[in-house]
Amino acid sequence: MSARILEGKTFAAAFREEAGKRAKILHQKYGVTPGLAVIIVGENPASKVYVRNKHKSCEELGIYSEVIEMPETATKDELIAEIDKLNASDRIHGILVQLPLPKQIAAYEAEILERIDPKKDVDGFHPVNVGRLVTGQKALIPCTPHGCLKMLQLAGIPIDGANAVIIGRSNIVGKPMAHLLLAENATVTICHSHTKNLKEVTKNADILVAAVGRPKFVTADMVKAGATVIDVGINRIAPKKLLGDVDFENVKEVAGAITPVPGGVGLLTVAMLMQNVVTACEMQIAK
Ligand code: NAD
Repeated sequence: MSARILEGKTFAAAFREEAGKRAKILHQKYGVTPGLAVIIVGENPASKVYVRNKHKSCEELGIYSEVIEMPETATKDELIAEIDKLNASDRIHGILVQLPLPKQIAAYEAEILERIDPKKDVDGFHPVNVGRLVTGQKALIPCTPHGCLKMLQLAGIPIDGANAVIIGRSNIVGKPMAHLLLAENATVTICHSHTKNLKEVTKNADILVAAVGRPKFVTADMVKAGATVIDVGINRIAPKKLLGDVDFENVKEVAGAITPVPGGVGLLTVAMLMQNVVTACEMQIAK
């Protein structure tokens, strides 16, 4: 039997609606409009599309949005000065520096991201938010793994006591995903490029999350019958052709539920960013 397809657009619509409702409450109760500032450095065409989508999404949900465009040649100090201004602004509750950064400042990425006030760190990459997530405190959580967790919950996939296997250990996806599932009482295994006998590990997974960055990396023989398979991968193999990390056509015949690419997890990220901007605003008001 073919797997249940977890369509990203259904879940993204629910998460966006929730963000919009919470933004409205903030406006009605406190007269505050949540505000997001996105800084983009340089001319990366993919980054420009992402930033445009974020801006549009804010407009649709009644969230104030500013896009700060800096030239490709911007220095680390110029970028930091811009972050400092936004840290001090009452209008802005969330700050995001669009990655990747141009070559001359890419080496300072950690320092630049740490300059963002943790209360406004809507990407959830600041060590303070990472530490809060790991220690089970209220935190701003990276959007993509948070979207995956919320999708699993809304889809009614059992997490408590499940064997969850994550392939990939990046700070953006793999590690936060592991902590989120652990906090929901899953038994979590993280696999990576040095993992031995990967298939033996993934075959045990009730929930399998692929965040590798290799097209069709997860094949049907790696998946337990009935498992839920979440494909975070976005691999552009031609100008208009995206493939996930999972061999969708074959894996869907084994899995119980599966996300497609495109049309799956990718749609959740911006919706969860909207939620983070609202959450950041709520947390700043509560202080
Ligand atoms: P990354 O390159 O930082 O990490 C990839 C991970 O895969 C590493 O931890 C590495 O150890 C692991 N890996 C590589 N080869 C492996 C192998 N042979 N066996 C086991 N593990 C292996 O990537 P990332 O930033 O975590 O992104 C992963 C994928 O998710 C990419 O395709 C990226 O485009 C996509 N992504 C999607 C979204 C979204 O919005 N849907 C957001 C972020 C990333």
